[in-house]
Amino acid sequence: MVRETHNPGINTTSLPLSPSVVSNRWQRWVFIVRLIIFFTFLVFRNTGRFSKVVRVFKVLQKRHRTAYKSGMLGKIARVDGKIFWHLFSGGAPSEASGKGLSQEIFRILNPDIPGRPRTLMLAITKRCPLACEHCYEADLLNGTEIWSREDLVEIVRQYQEAGISMFWLGGGEPMARYSDLRYLLQKSSGASEFWIATSGYRMNDQAARDLKADGLNGVIISLDHFDPMLHNRFRGSPHAFQWAVRACVACKRAGLVTVLSVCATRSFSTEANVRKYMELAKDLGVAFVLMIEPKAAGRYAGKEVALFPDQVQMLERLTMTYNNHPDYRTYPILEYPDMLGRLAGCGGAGNRHLYINSNGMVQVCPFCQTEVAKALAFSAEETIRLATRMSCPVTTGSALLPT
Ligand code: SF4
Repeated sequence: MVRETHNPGINTTSLPLSPSVVSNRWQRWVFIVRLIIFFTFLVFRNTGRFSKVVRVFKVLQKRHRTAYKSGMLGKIARVDGKIFWHLFSGGAPSEASGKGLSQEIFRILNPDIPGRPRTLMLAITKRCPLACEHCYEADLLNGTEIWSREDLVEIVRQYQEAGISMFWLGGGEPMARYSDLRYLLQKSSGASEFWIATSGYRMNDQAARDLKADGLNGVIISLDHFDPMLHNRFRGSPHAFQWAVRACVACKRAGLVTVLSVCATRSFSTEANVRKYMELAKDLGVAFVLMIEPKAAGRYAGKEVALFPDQVQMLERLTMTYNNHPDYRTYPILEYPDMLGRLAGCGGAGNRHLYINSNGMVQVCPFCQTEVAKALAFSAEETIRLATRMSCPVTTGSALLPT
């Protein structure tokens, strides 16, 4: 279908792209049944008893209602034969998602034993062609690289052995270290999911196909406004919007999971803006929109960037509307980790994820920037043990919902 779009600067003949979200009721049920079978198999494999299945499902359902105000499988996306219902769960069925979900099953059945992280965000480079307004790595950018590509392979190997099932590779701009990125994927993919967080720099059809063949699963593309001029200004480059849209198109064609990531600044966070943004995300056919609140870190350090309570309330309300209301079943799944943190506890501090910055320091999260230890100087097991003793210093109550 060819139609006009409200977004200047996008090739209107290519939109809308095919949706990733499954909106057909019967197809949805087929995928849900497949997921239930996969999950039942995992519980049995981990416990040896079918009687545990009901208990695990009940706890998961309850947790999901607390965190998302919906049933566990409210909205699902399908990409390349895999089913996605939550950005941090990976695509099922697969060995990697089975590994991550098995950790959740263990947590449920062993509530007295501290859980372990399942996602590692790893900054693989300091190189970056942009100068984003909010960059949390700003002080480290474009310095001398600390890791060789063999070091990167070793870090990933250690954390895979320590149970990490999902790697988010970022930077800097990971596509600025393209051949090392490909090398890392070729050496490491298989038992874990690999995603990159990119501005869309250098991502075209060929690159997307090659990265997919190397083992990449998903691509989180930064797009901070539906208005090209405002996005370009935020990112400090006249090309940023074009790169992001081109990356979306190329990654979808290559069968990669596509995600749009938006920093919901004070000036962006109006209901009209979020709605226009979601229209664009739907036209681009992405599986998820990842909405992140600005934090006073990196280039925003010392600045008054935190959202006002009425803005937080509006974002939380829209998140639930887009994810639960039948009128929005064709829109991408909206992930709002700050809301999740307020309602269900922060996933950082080694709880469910860890961060290694481009200086090689393990941090409890990209924003708090509390350093745990230097990667490779300490084993993955040691850094995870240290990180899980720390707690998130910033999570506060939801503006909309009781905690
Ligand atoms: S936020 Fe990412 S893309 Fe922007 S300057 Fe920082 S590292 Fe580069």
